[in-house]
Parts: sequence; C-alpha cells; structure tokens
Amino acid sequence: MKLKDDISQLISGEVENTPEVLTTYSHDASLFEVKPEVVAYPKDASDVKALVKYVKDNKAKVPNLSITARSAGTDMSGGAVNDSIVADFNRHFTSITETTKTTAHAQPGVFYRDFEKATLEHGALMPSYPASRELCTIGGMVNNNSGGEKSLEYGKTENFVTELKVVLADGNEVTMAPLTKAQLDIKRKLSTFEGEVYRKTFDLVDKHYDAIKAAKPHVTKNSTGYNLWDVWDRDTGIFDLTKLVVGAQGTLGLTTDIKFRLVAARPHSGLLVAFLHDIDHLGEVINVVLKHKPATFESFDDVTLWLSIKFMPYFLKMLGPVKFIQLLIGLIPDGFMLLHGLPKLILMVEFNGESVEEVRTKIKALHKELDLKHSYYEITAEEEDDTEFKSQKYWIMRRQSFQLLRKKVKDKHTAPFIDDLVVNPEYLPKFLPEMRKIIKKYQLFATIAGHMGDGNFHIIPLMKIEDPKELAKIRPAMQETNELVLKYHGVLSGEHNDGMIRGPWLERAYGQEIYGYFKDVKNIFDPQGIFNPHKKANADWDWTMGHIRQSF
Ligand SMILES: Cc1cc2nc3c(=O)[nH]c(=O)nc-3n(C[C@H](O)[C@H](O)[C@H](O)COP(=O)(O)OP(=O)(O)OC[C@H]3O[C@@H](n4cnc5c(N)ncnc54)[C@H](O)[C@@H]3O)c2cc1C
Repeated sequence: MKLKDDISQLISGEVENTPEVLTTYSHDASLFEVKPEVVAYPKDASDVKALVKYVKDNKAKVPNLSITARSAGTDMSGGAVNDSIVADFNRHFTSITETTKTTAHAQPGVFYRDFEKATLEHGALMPSYPASRELCTIGGMVNNNSGGEKSLEYGKTENFVTELKVVLADGNEVTMAPLTKAQLDIKRKLSTFEGEVYRKTFDLVDKHYDAIKAAKPHVTKNSTGYNLWDVWDRDTGIFDLTKLVVGAQGTLGLTTDIKFRLVAARPHSGLLVAFLHDIDHLGEVINVVLKHKPATFESFDDVTLWLSIKFMPYFLKMLGPVKFIQLLIGLIPDGFMLLHGLPKLILMVEFNGESVEEVRTKIKALHKELDLKHSYYEITAEEEDDTEFKSQKYWIMRRQSFQLLRKKVKDKHTAPFIDDLVVNPEYLPKFLPEMRKIIKKYQLFATIAGHMGDGNFHIIPLMKIEDPKELAKIRPAMQETNELVLKYHGVLSGEHNDGMIRGPWLERAYGQEIYGYFKDVKNIFDPQGIFNPHKKANADWDWTMGHIRQSF
C-alpha cells in the first residue's frame, strides 16, 4: 500500500493497484507473467521525472524497486512487464504535436494507427510499422526498434528517429539527437549525470571502436543487444545516443517525446502472390525476387493459411459483414488455386510506383522471370482502392496470423520463443530444412510467417505451457534453433527484441567481450539498476523461466 500512497502524492496522473489492473499488466504478448506492485499513469514529463527520482532515491532502502515503461503492451519478449512499478504511457502521452510532409513530432503513447492517419494527411508515412500496426504505439516501436513489411525497402524504426526526449536515471529529462564532435565535447564537459553518460559512453565506443564495429551483425535487421556500433562514426564525426536508446526496451531511460523523419507514401502499389507447392527451389525463387528490388517480400505457410480459412468468422467480426462478403467473393479464384492442393508457402511480393503502369511493368517482369507455371497469379494496380481491396485478404492473413493464434486456438497458447530469427536469404535453402527438422524433432505445432526478403521468420509454436512435458521442450528447442541461426551468421531477433526470452542468450550470440560492453552501457546509463530489470543484458534464464505464464 505504501508504494501506491507515496507515488500518488508525487504525480498528477493516476496510480492503481486493484487486482484487475495488476492482472492485466502482468502480461504482454509474450510467454511470461510478472505481476507489478502498482501501475502509474504519468500525465506529463514532470510525472515521469518524479517517478524516476522516487525510484532512484529509494532504491538503496528497497532493492526490488524499479520502473518499467509500457505503451500498448504488445511486446512478445516480456519487455513490458515488471514486478515493481509499471508506468503506462498509453493513457496520457497521446498527443501528436506536429506533422509535415517530411517530419512528425509526437508523444510515445500515440497508437501507430492514429499517427499514420495524421501523417497520411500530408501524403507521408513512417514506414517501419509492424504487423501489430493496429495495436501498438510509436513509443513501443521506438523502444523495440520495430520493423515490418516495408523494412525491406526502408529499414527499421532506427532510421526514422531524429530526436528523442529521455528521462535518465537521475530523474532529469534530456534531449538526444545526432551531435558533431564539437557538440559532443560540450556535452562531455557537463558536470551533470547527462555529461557523465556522454563521457563514459564515448570512452567506451571510442576505446573499443574496431571490436564494436566488427560486432555489428551482417543482416538487414537486428533488434538484439545494444546498438553500440551505430553510436559513434569516426568518418562522419557524428555521435548519436538515439541509436542506443532506440531498441533498448526502456532499460536505459524512459522516452517522453519523439521526432521522426517521414517518407512520401507511394501512390500506387501492386502485389504478386505466388503459391509454392514445392519449397526445394525456394533459394532460387528468393534470389530472383530480390533481384527485382520489391518494396516488400512477405510469406506465410500452409498452417497459417489453414488456420485463416478455419477461423474466417474471426475476420467477419473484424471487417464487418459487407467487407467480409466482398472478401469471400474475392477468395473464389484462390479457392480454385487451392484445388491443386494446399501450397506449402505463400509468397507476397509488393511493388510500389508513381504510376499504375510503373507498378504493372515491375510485376510483369518478375512474373515472367519466376515462371512458376500455374502456382502464381498476379494482381495489378488498376486503381488504388481496387488494388488495396484485392490484396487485402493476403495482408489480413499475413498481419493477423499471430493475433489469430493468440485469440482463437483453444486449449493451446502461442509460445513465442523462436519467434523472430533472421538468417540472410542466401542461407535459407540450407537453413529452412534444418529448421523444419528441429520443429519436427520437438513436435512443435508451429506457424511460420515472415519477412522473406530479410530472411526474418516468425515461428510461433502453439503449446500447452501448463504441461511440464511441453514446457521442458522450450530450452533445448530454443538452444538448437539459436545455434542453427548463429551457424548461418544470423541473429536471434530482427524486430521483437531480447526482453526476458532472448536476453539470456546475448553472451552466446555476441561473445564475452561485446556482451561485457553491453553490460557496461547498462551500468553507465543505469548504475543503480532501476530501469526495466531482467531484460536484455541483465536477463537471467532461471528468472525468465520462473515467470512462465500461469493464467490465461
Ligand atoms: C500480433 C502481433 C504482431 C506483431 N508483429 C510485429 C512485427 O511485425 N514487427 C515488430 O517489430 N514487432 C511486432 N510485434 C511486437 C510489438 O507489437 C511491437 O514491437 C510494438 O512496436 C510494441 O509496441 P507497444 O506499444 O505494444 O509497446 P510495449 O509492448 O508497451 O513496449 C515495448 C517495449 O518498449 C518499452 N517501452 C514502451 N514505451 C516506452 C517508453 N515510453 N519509454 C521507454 N521504454 C518504453 C517497454 O518497456 C517494452 O520493453 C507484434 C506483436 C503482436 C501482438
């Protein structure tokens, strides 16, 4: 009770600890359950500062005290749960300050769906939105360094953040943006905690410059570890702490304000869908597709397709009856395609362009070169709305696959523990059959969907977690998968981040030296360990497995 009373006196936002609230906040979209003591809803930056100062001042007396930021709580790694204070940004940090054709300025608790409406009014887009685009916030996207279907062309959220306001571990709010060396030197001279952060971080990344640069994974997307390699560039002379905070899951500080750069939304797009009945030649297919430089290259498997067909009524609820009937009619040609048997993999390749003609030319060129006989058909952009509608059924299946599993499959639960691996497309022909063997060996009933162009796969087993036999599969199956990913020079997470589930594997993935620098960074920013404990470099496997979800 004391914690709630203390905090209530300090902040103007609400503080709650009813059993219902605590149960809701015990979960995100991960495998875990961690019950907070209180949930605080800061109204503004002063509230966030007061919360952090309270935790800092009382940490020595109450060692378990800590603070975890939470926005929409759709994190799949256990990043948004905590056993002490959870600070919810989704209630009050919801203002969009300004949007222009090229920039946006907003608070972290804004839902991406609302943010996008505002940017599209200027014909602009922040293109790193995830499949959870209807559910998540921009603060969660920044702190997970999220990516999605457009990341193949544009990269992840890290490429679009230009400035952040962050409350540091001393309880002060600072502004972070790319700095020249001269600007950095001014920061390093400050006698404040901010100055200390700049001094120590620069010393770390400059002293171990070559080792840190060499540790950057050679994949097109990565959300594991701390992004140390992008902070300091001796060639450009730019030092940028936003690169470190983006993707840090609130373990280095709390984000209160975000500025983004935007790209122009392309007026026309078209989708080529390929039904692959035989995946032996997947490697060649991928190489051909990538040569054509598509805007997106997504895929989902036969299990996802089958579940989508089985749970069509779920889509009815989501779309409303008129759109659902249109969707069913739209599916008739696909029904005929399915008479050839359920394809093993559905590939979705999207092209953008300034005109319908441009899009159609791109699709036709790929169409011709793929030469997949009857296992494909194409959708071209006749007009914007039409295209959007025709392709919508595939996007729904692709984007909603995980949500469908979470909501609809009875007596089994989604178990995201090998949910986000990345292996460069060149290795996929060898990697995928070996991956399938692991899935078979552990008898995991898993759907596979993903961002094919980046070699980023979401493998989500459905399990009875409460059954000890099922639970016992997690560690060995994860170990074998991780070793396989590392054998092919991949990373364990392209988008979903480390949290509790992958944090314990960081040392294995990066080696002792780089893992040591991750720990150093955490200590520089958070010397008392007040921010989001048990995640990323401070995760511990036993603690993680001690918090497997018990209630559903
Ligand atoms: C159906 C489904 C599909 C998904 N698909 C994708 C996908 O395609 N790509 C992808 O990248 N992810 C995906 N995810 C994971 C997740 O939705 C995204 O990472 C999303 O960006 C998280 O946003 P959120 O608002 O829910 O954040 P939360 O879950 O609330 O938080 C995410 C992390 O950021 C931290 N955080 C939140 N706000 C702040 C703040 N103000 N200051 C400091 N730290 C903060 C939290 O502590 C946590 O560690 C998916 C999840 C679901 C359920």
